[in-house]
Amino acid sequence: MSDHSNLHLLIGGEKVSGGGRDMIEVIDPATAEVLGSLPTATTDDLDAALANADKGFHAWRKESADKRAAVLTKAGQLLRERAKDIGTLLTKEQGKPIKEAIGEVIYCAMLFEFYAGECKRTYGRELVRPTGQSARVIYVPVGPVAGFAAWNFPAINVARKIGGAIAAGCSVIVKPSEETPAAGIALVQALLDAGVPGDVCQVVFGVPDEVSRHLLASPIIRKVTFTGSTAVGKHLTKLAADDMKVTTMELGGHAPIMVFKDSDVDTVLDTMVGAAYRNAGQVCVSPTRFLVEQDLFPAFRDGFVERAKAITVGNGFDDATLMGPMANDRGPEGLAKKIANAKDKGAKVDAGGERIGNQGFFFEPTVLSEVPTDADIMNEEPFGPIALINPMANADAIIEEANRLPYGLAAYAWTNDPKLRSRLAADVEAGMLAINGANVSAVDAPFGGVKWSGHGQEDGAEGVMHCMVPKTIHES
Ligand code: NAD
Repeated sequence: MSDHSNLHLLIGGEKVSGGGRDMIEVIDPATAEVLGSLPTATTDDLDAALANADKGFHAWRKESADKRAAVLTKAGQLLRERAKDIGTLLTKEQGKPIKEAIGEVIYCAMLFEFYAGECKRTYGRELVRPTGQSARVIYVPVGPVAGFAAWNFPAINVARKIGGAIAAGCSVIVKPSEETPAAGIALVQALLDAGVPGDVCQVVFGVPDEVSRHLLASPIIRKVTFTGSTAVGKHLTKLAADDMKVTTMELGGHAPIMVFKDSDVDTVLDTMVGAAYRNAGQVCVSPTRFLVEQDLFPAFRDGFVERAKAITVGNGFDDATLMGPMANDRGPEGLAKKIANAKDKGAKVDAGGERIGNQGFFFEPTVLSEVPTDADIMNEEPFGPIALINPMANADAIIEEANRLPYGLAAYAWTNDPKLRSRLAADVEAGMLAINGANVSAVDAPFGGVKWSGHGQEDGAEGVMHCMVPKTIHES
C-alpha cells in the first residue's frame, strides 16, 4: 500500500508522480514535521483525467448493477482487511485517535456495502394511460462527477464523493484534501483493486481553486460534489451554474443542542460532551450551541466543565488519548481569535481557551458560557474543540435561537415530552435532528443540510439517486 513516502495521483489507473511536477508538503499535525511530498497535477494531467472520465463513463454506465454491486462489495471487504493500515495513515496526517481513524475506514466499508445493495434498487415507474399510451420514468447516471473533499474526515469524505457515483454508473475524479492525501489514495486503490476500471475512478491534487476551475470548465463534468466551508461551496455552485452542472454541497454547520427542562442532566452530559470534542470539534455536525433551560443551567455548566477538563489530549497513537491535535495550523489560530472576540463581548471562559505547547496544533478542550449572540463564535462555525453554553428562558426561546442562523445541518434535542418532540420534528430547520442521542450519521440514512449548510444528500438511497437523473419515455 502507498504511504507518505510515495504519494501520487491516480490517472487512468496509473500511479503518477515525479516528472518535475510541483510538490506540496504533507504535515503531521501532532509534531508539525513533514510526512512526505505530494505531487500536483499539471494541466495535461487534468485533461488526461477528463478524457479518461468521459471514456470510462460511457463503458461503466452500461455495466450491470450486479457488476457494480460486486466491485463495491469487494472494495468493502478490502477496506475491512486494510482498515488498520489505512487508519494509521489517517491518524498520521490528520491527528485523530487511531481507534476513530480505523472506525472511519470501517464506516467507508459499510457505505460501499450498503451502496452495493442500493444500486440494484434505482427503480423507475410506469404511467399507463387509459388510451393505451404509457410513459416510463427511468433513472440514468448523471455523467462524470468531480468531487472535492475536506481534511476533517480524510476517508469518509472521499468515500461519500465516490461511492454514490460508482454505484449509479458514473465515473468520478476526486480531489481529496492536499493536507490529508494518503487515506483518500488508499481508499481509491481499494476500489481499483476490487475491479473498478482505472478510468472510472481517478485521484488528482493541486492548488484547489486551480483544479476545480479547470475541471468545472469542462463540459465533460456533469456533477460537482463538495465537502467544506460554505464560502467555497457557494463559489463552486456559481462555477457549476455556468454549465448547469448538478451540485451536491455538504457545507458548514453550527449545531444547536436543545436541552429542555425535563432532561436528566447527567444523561445529556454523558452523551454530548464526548460528541462535542470528537475529532477536536472539527466535524460539520459538531454539537456547538448548548441551549439549556434556565433551571438546569448551573448544574449543566458545572458538569460539562468537569467532564471537559478530564479529557486527555495527546498524540492520536497514544492509548490514553481521547482528543488529538487540530488538523492544521489554521485551527488553533482561528479558534484563539474567536475566543478573544467572545471574551471582549462578555463571554465567560469556564475551561481551556488556550493552545497547548508549541509543538503540533494542540488546543485545550474549551467551554464558554453566557456568550452574547453578537459574538463572532455564536455566528460562525468554530470548527474546533469548544462548547458554547447559554441559559434560555423557555422552549420557545430555545427553538427560536436554534433556527436563528443561516446554517441548518445537524440539530440535537433532549426531551421526552411527546408534543414537544413533534413540534421539533416539524419546526427545527436542519437536515438531521437527533432526539435524545448524539448520532446523526448512518450509511442507510441521508446526510446533508438545508440553508447555507448545502443541498443534496450523501449516504442512504439518496446518495445514489443524487448521482442519477430521471428520463421519461412517452410511448404510443
Ligand atoms: P475550505 O473550505 O477552504 O477547505 C475545505 C476543503 O476544500 C479543503 O480540503 C480544500 O482543499 C478544499 N477547497 C478549498 N477551496 C477549494 C476550491 N476553490 N475548489 C475545490 N476545493 C477547494 O476550509 P478550511 O480553511 O480548510 O476550513 C475552514 C472552514 O471550513 C472550517 O472552519 C469549517 O467551517 C469549514 N469546513 C467544513 C467541513 C465540513 O465537513 N462541512 C470540512 C472542512 C472545513
